[in-house]
Amino acid sequence: MTGPEPETKMQFLFALRSRGVTDKRVLQAMEEIDRGVFVRGLFANRSYDDMPLPIACGQTISQPSVVGLMTQALQLSPRDKVLEVGTGSGYQAAILSRLVRRVYTVDRHARLVREANEAFSALNLSNITAMTADGSFGLPEQAPFDRIIVTAAAEDPPGPLLAQLKIDGIMVVPVGQSDAVQTLIRVLRTSTGYEYEEIRPVRFVPLLEGLGKDG
Ligand code: SAH
Repeated sequence: MTGPEPETKMQFLFALRSRGVTDKRVLQAMEEIDRGVFVRGLFANRSYDDMPLPIACGQTISQPSVVGLMTQALQLSPRDKVLEVGTGSGYQAAILSRLVRRVYTVDRHARLVREANEAFSALNLSNITAMTADGSFGLPEQAPFDRIIVTAAAEDPPGPLLAQLKIDGIMVVPVGQSDAVQTLIRVLRTSTGYEYEEIRPVRFVPLLEGLGKDG
């Protein structure tokens, strides 16, 4: 694995900063993880553009600046146990894995989980557990979580995910009824309930029920 030219990487980091990714640890993780490992085939040469790109199963790898902003909004600490719903390419999980103790990530497509696991092995990322599951129910056997990130859009934050968040835990999730644009929100669980804060408009593929039909 060769990774990008230094100049390509400098432009990538500049684009992230200019779009509001300012957290030093997040920027460092994004500098270290080669996005090219997560983009296969036709679009591999666009890996360092700040754009979402198509991956298998009709899904997308998120735009890097959105990955950065969501990661930043989670206010991670190195001891955290994090759940990601929507493994996709595995890129977001790889970034998280550099910043926390343990990452659980689930996707409804077995093929995406398999390919993401290959990328995690190639990069020696050993604190990620990826599984095929319908993430709208969370991951009860590993709950509760310090942080939850949902990388597919729901109409509302799914109840089981709210329930699997620790007190003082944070969840970041795109919500909204429209397919075209949703609102990224941050949910903070307090000892008495949940506080909601809008972050910015985003565009994500929908959170779907059940498992995908693929091997
Ligand atoms: N975080 C990914 C991008 C995710 S795209 C990355 O870094 O590349 C959204 C993903 O959510 C898709 O792979 C889709 O299969 C998955 N998804 C949609 N609904 C789901 C559900 N109910 N449970 C688990 N995964 C789901």
